[in-house]
Amino acid sequence: MNEALDHLTPIRFERASDGSIIVTSLAGEWALLSADQFDSLIENRVNDPSLRRELIQKQILTSGNPKFDRQLLATKLAYRYRGLPTMCGLHIFVVTLRCEHSCHYCQVSRRSSSKIEFDMPLDVADKAIDRVFESTSQNVKIEFQGGEPLLNLPLIEYVVTTASERAKRLNRQIDFVIASNLALLDDAAIDLARTYGIAFSTSIDGPPAIHNKARPRPGNDSFERAARGIQRIQSELGIDRVSAIMTTSINNFMSAREVIDTYCDLGLREVFLRQMSPFGFAARRRQFQKTRGKGWIDFYVDGLEYVIEINRRGIEMAELTAAAYLRKMLRNDIGGYVDLMSPTGAGLATLVYNYDGNVYMSDEGRMLKEMGDTTFCLGDVRENSFDQLLSKQQCIDSVADSFSWSATSCSTCALEPFCGSDPVYHQATQGSFAGYKPISDFCLRTKSIVPELMRLYKQDEFTQLLFEKWADL
Ligand code: SF4
Repeated sequence: MNEALDHLTPIRFERASDGSIIVTSLAGEWALLSADQFDSLIENRVNDPSLRRELIQKQILTSGNPKFDRQLLATKLAYRYRGLPTMCGLHIFVVTLRCEHSCHYCQVSRRSSSKIEFDMPLDVADKAIDRVFESTSQNVKIEFQGGEPLLNLPLIEYVVTTASERAKRLNRQIDFVIASNLALLDDAAIDLARTYGIAFSTSIDGPPAIHNKARPRPGNDSFERAARGIQRIQSELGIDRVSAIMTTSINNFMSAREVIDTYCDLGLREVFLRQMSPFGFAARRRQFQKTRGKGWIDFYVDGLEYVIEINRRGIEMAELTAAAYLRKMLRNDIGGYVDLMSPTGAGLATLVYNYDGNVYMSDEGRMLKEMGDTTFCLGDVRENSFDQLLSKQQCIDSVADSFSWSATSCSTCALEPFCGSDPVYHQATQGSFAGYKPISDFCLRTKSIVPELMRLYKQDEFTQLLFEKWADL
């Protein structure tokens, strides 16, 4: 190292759009400095005692004891990656591809309600349960997806009862989630959810007119049915047993505040302002192109500011994209959100068991297969053990390419500790696992949202406490 910079540990830095400088340590601790403060850091003349103390505590400035600084930095870094050996806690069962909706941006290429050949057979379900318990995570979660999973409730019941009994026998913790549009929620589904503590995840894209336009179904009553389902789950099972996500489409693209008001009206405490994925029917309809880039960032930031404003009014609500970043920014943790993991969470944190027995590294990997790209298909659940699936070359290659410490652009990026690596997204949009970050919307998202979160966090005490709550601090 240049002798003049001996007072610094290895840092990365980046100028934010408002001129301030983001500085991060190797272990992912960060400071937001003015240009003058940054100059004083580089020139080793930080005179403000509280700033000096903060920079030393974060191993950005050395403490005068290089050995101690190095050891502390190494300990923090090792702690940050502590969860890696016991991953693959999320197992997605695609119990059917059938669906009675025909959403414009459907990402899984659903089939019509009558085509039962697209249901998961019992032998596939049995083998998938075997793989769940071969994974190393003590806490496992099974998420039922489709199509519309409630169209195959008997299989859900079979998996829930069988896996619960096995978890009990093996002393493993197990949770269940049904990702459903809730249009077909009935007494049987509620009873099963009550008995086994199953949670529901649904979709709300905005007020009735916007939601029903994006999610056509016979009767044009998707919103009304989802709202009734949410209300029923909240009153019969508990307010926290149902959550919803929204997908940005041309229908709701200009209306973040209207979307959030709808969530408030439904009594939901979380909103997930989510960009559309470039998969499935969405990609074919070119909707993805219309809702990407800087336009989506403006939509998102407006929505985020509105969520903060709502909290100031005394209404409790969290925004989950921000929460995923904040967990990485405020806790010494790589986070649990698959899209923001490095190395990738695809395969390491999650596996997807398709109705036909094929196993994918992530839900998006399954969607990519529906577009004809089988890159992320690891094999058949009936023929491969958990270890064999994760040892497939494409799994090893994509995990290796997803380690952002060694990726071009990412290795020198100050935001790397808060970002992730999404090989499935980059394969879909650019044809390679790592992708070329200067033209990546994934990269743009982090480069735009993280500095905004830092600015808001420093802005006032209310926002600081709110963000710490979202990060589960
Ligand atoms: S994807 Fe972009 S923001 Fe994320 S670490 Fe890489 S260069 Fe930085």
